[in-house]
Amino acid sequence: MTHSHEEPAEALTRNQGLVLGTLTGADAPLSAYDILDRLREDGLRAPLQVYRALDKLVERGLAHRLESLNAFVACADAHCHRTGVIAFAICESCGRVDEFADDVVRERLAGWAGENGFKPSRTTIELRGTCKQCLARAA
Ligand SMILES: [Zn+2]
Ligand SMILES: [Zn+2]
Repeated sequence: MTHSHEEPAEALTRNQGLVLGTLTGADAPLSAYDILDRLREDGLRAPLQVYRALDKLVERGLAHRLESLNAFVACADAHCHRTGVIAFAICESCGRVDEFADDVVRERLAGWAGENGFKPSRTTIELRGTCKQCLARAA
């Protein structure tokens, strides 16, 4: 795949840029309503404006949806889309999310799908638990 994050910023609409900026500046995943709250002063009023922008950002791989939290994060790994399988480690204590990609996992899943004639359209891997920093703090 040739997708890259090097696309020019002007390719984003104003709303998409605002939403992406909010996600990039956040230290934890945000729901669409969190995003709307933060962008009211910028003129966003309707949840639909945020949902439309999020749809496009997710489609382009600039943001990801965390299924278990129903929340969004900015893409942290410029290379994640080369593998097509993205994993997230979500800390339930501080809310920190680490994005990573793993070739072995991707190959195993692709192998299973191939053997079973299954055509995946989307794969989401989410690890819930406690991050290194929180574990160290608790120790
Ligand atoms: Zn990503
Ligand atoms: Zn943590």
